[in-house]
Amino acid sequence: ADMGEIAIRIEGLKKYFGGVKAIDGVTFTVQRGTIHGVIGPNGSGKSTMVNLLSGVYTPSEGQVLLNGNTVQGKPTFRIAKMGMTRTFQNIQLFSDLTVMENVLVGFHRQFRSGMFRQMLALRSVKREEQQFVDQCFRILKLVGLEQRAYEIADSLSYGEKRLMEIARALAMKPSVLLLDEPAAGASPVEVERIVNVIRKLRDAGLTVILIEHHMEIVMEFCDSITVLDFGIKLAEGTPEQISRNEKVVEAYLGG
Ligand code: ADP
Ligand code: MG
Repeated sequence: ADMGEIAIRIEGLKKYFGGVKAIDGVTFTVQRGTIHGVIGPNGSGKSTMVNLLSGVYTPSEGQVLLNGNTVQGKPTFRIAKMGMTRTFQNIQLFSDLTVMENVLVGFHRQFRSGMFRQMLALRSVKREEQQFVDQCFRILKLVGLEQRAYEIADSLSYGEKRLMEIARALAMKPSVLLLDEPAAGASPVEVERIVNVIRKLRDAGLTVILIEHHMEIVMEFCDSITVLDFGIKLAEGTPEQISRNEKVVEAYLGG
């Protein structure tokens, strides 16, 4: 494919924690405007991969390129500013702030680093930047939380908190969104709401790296899939190729 079409390029990526090889030499590319799934058993390195891409961890070795620009070694807020944002497998929220404020924090993360500074800065954002509020409201609408905008985040259902996390990541206007198990622990009705949001993101042409253990979601939405096993790329391909790959079925899908 044309180099200009590549949103993410990961090359020889490694992350060791002492003797644990969480990611052990992984290479793949993600085309712009596609959804790339990363699947694999528990402990295979999926969240570590997201942490490496988003700058939470620094690689032991290897490269991450976002639109051709080096990502590794940069702090998370800078990577967010470069256009790559994420959600967390374990929900991260300010439980006593409103839903709107939680999303505004995401907005503000474009400009500053540090959670505490972000919280302190919220008041001035609210006062000065009505346009941020308007944009956050549009994003809350996209995830179906606009009616909850002024409620305390902690009052949301579990699945709604997950939707709020996606909204916060979207507030930074990413070109690449990293979703680490966005539907984990959600009820079937909530999973459906989350799936609807993923559908909208796909239709909007966003580039997404999707970590998900609901295989039907992976198979429906992903254009391409990387399968990890013990930090190594076990297989790569379209959903169809992956679902009939013997190594994958043996190591993962069959089990
Ligand atoms: P997955 O998301 O696929 O379940 P993880 O990326 O969370 O897997 O973990 C991969 C491996 O790396 C596991 O063995 C895990 O215990 C280890 N690991 C992840 N993060 C750390 C860390 N901060 N310190 C030590 N070991 C870690
Ligand atoms: Mg994980």
